[in-house]
Amino acid sequence: MSDNRPIVFASSNAGKILELDELLTPLGMQVKSQLDYGVEPLPETALTFVENAIVKARHASSETGLAAIADDSGLEVDALDGAPGLYSARFARMHNAGSGDSDNNTLLLKKLEGLDDDKRTARFRCVLVYLQHEKDPSPVIAQGVWEGHILKTAESGGGFGYDPVFCNHDTHSATSLLSKSQKNKLSHRGKALQALLASLPPSMSHT
Ligand code: IMP
Repeated sequence: MSDNRPIVFASSNAGKILELDELLTPLGMQVKSQLDYGVEPLPETALTFVENAIVKARHASSETGLAAIADDSGLEVDALDGAPGLYSARFARMHNAGSGDSDNNTLLLKKLEGLDDDKRTARFRCVLVYLQHEKDPSPVIAQGVWEGHILKTAESGGGFGYDPVFCNHDTHSATSLLSKSQKNKLSHRGKALQALLASLPPSMSHT
């Protein structure tokens, strides 16, 4: 059964919403942010990316009656044993060092002070979940990873989150310097979305 109704994206992060919109609109998929339906974000309390993403998607689907996509993502830094990882969005807040993206980046650079490039390896990870409806017992789950390292100083430019300090190993530049479409071709979220689209049975197609 093909369905023309929009899919709700269970995120309130403007950067992620822009990226997903840019990826899905050309495919004829109508994705709307949960913000458009007044859905409040839930606290992320699970211990894995996949559980967080399922909870977010189920909540958005239950509040809107629509199929839902959710992502949970983060930055894993090897020198910090995988931190900030699951807690990437609230890294600075958890250390009483502010709460915004630039506070997260400042804290990360401070924690890695004095480390050489070869010890600054890191990766972005993204898990995407698609639920047909609130009680869907078999979510479609896909994952993408993007390897790189953490720069010694933040670059300016666009993007969001850790983009100014993440030097991706595809272009060897700060991710904040990439255009949206360049980033989408290479990023963890872009890869996860391609994998998700390839896994959706035709009966779930919204195109
Ligand atoms: P959450 O998935 O809403 O828990 O947030 C994940 C956090 O990871 C974001 O708030 C960013 O700090 C970081 N993050 C995830 N993906 C990206 C990205 O593409 N660029 C920069 N930071 C990212």
